[in-house]
Amino acid sequence: MSEDNLSAVLYGVDDLRLEQVAIPKPGPKQVQIRVHTVGICGSDVHYWTHGSIGPFVVKEPMIVGHETSGVVSEVGSEVTHLKVGDRIAMEPGLPCKLCEHCKTGRYNLCPEMKFFATPPINGTLSRYVVHDADFCFKLPDNLSFEDGALIEPLSVAIHSCRRGNVQMGHRVLVCGAGPIGVLNLLTAKAVGAGKVVITDLDEGRLALAKKLGADATINVKGKSIETVRAEIITALEYQQPQVCIECTGAQPSIETAITTTKSGGVIVLVGLGADRVDIPIIESATREVDMRGIFRYVNCYPTAIELLSSGKLDLSGLTRAHYKLEETLEAFKRTQKADVIKVFIQC
Ligand code: NAD
Ligand code: ZN
Repeated sequence: MSEDNLSAVLYGVDDLRLEQVAIPKPGPKQVQIRVHTVGICGSDVHYWTHGSIGPFVVKEPMIVGHETSGVVSEVGSEVTHLKVGDRIAMEPGLPCKLCEHCKTGRYNLCPEMKFFATPPINGTLSRYVVHDADFCFKLPDNLSFEDGALIEPLSVAIHSCRRGNVQMGHRVLVCGAGPIGVLNLLTAKAVGAGKVVITDLDEGRLALAKKLGADATINVKGKSIETVRAEIITALEYQQPQVCIECTGAQPSIETAITTTKSGGVIVLVGLGADRVDIPIIESATREVDMRGIFRYVNCYPTAIELLSSGKLDLSGLTRAHYKLEETLEAFKRTQKADVIKVFIQC
């Protein structure tokens, strides 16, 4: 094995360096992974441009990246379900596995969660990383390494659709056609939703959403909430959506979600924008429009793999760009341009 473990280390705002770090050795219940593909997420770029997200501040150098696939290169003594050479997707968060949330199956809410590339935990933009074996999922032969990396954001969408209780024949509104919005569109369709309408401010993103199967796209730019609401209901043949998956975090979009969702329906708050937002709360209360948060995902990796491997959900239409680990800075700049859904780095 080579001694090369080039890694993308963030020192602070606008200070991303490529440097060698020691190759980590797996503990008894861990595996070492030769990283193949890492997708770049908005949060990776945000740490690079701002140095923090909410309470998480980059205080010490941190390796970035968390949407990861690779090949098992060493196996800990107690690991039985993986062997050297297995292709895997890595679920990036390690919970304590002992607290009430963990024990009741909502480990994404674990207060001790250690999540890749969330300070101070190192991410995966390296040649080699180690990870708990039970958070590494074997990729079937018909899934690519890029599919493996995309399982991370796809899991956010699966968790969102689960929290929204998206069902067969449901009419769904997705607000925002970024990576998370379009993955919600694909997931809602894959689980049997009827018509899905998607909104955005960007014509290019809406055009892609249309290609990926949106029944209608609405550009909300310059329009009042009333106008957008009317256009959504018209697009759904004069019915309101039972579920709205809000993937922007923008105030007008959240307000549109509340006023447009059918009485008794559900809004899933995926987008994270301003900390405090002015919303018509009485409308949500009196029409019993439930607002449900989501935080990342829980128990979604096996479902994502099954949906992809069975062909029920197809990611081949997502626009992509590719860089080498040595080109990490260019890859981050490309992500900022937002001209493709996913930028990948090959390690
Ligand atoms: P993104 O920024 O690429 O996409 C957001 C899209 O929303 C953009 O295309 C933008 O043009 C559009 N938009 C902005 N204002 C709008 C408005 N008023 N109406 C309609 N569209 C509007 O981000 P992404 O990677 O797709 O992620 C979406 C959101 O989900 C982000 O806020 C992100 O932080 C959040 N997120 C949350 C979780 C979680 O666990 N809750 C996980 C992943 C991402
Ligand atoms: Zn826990």
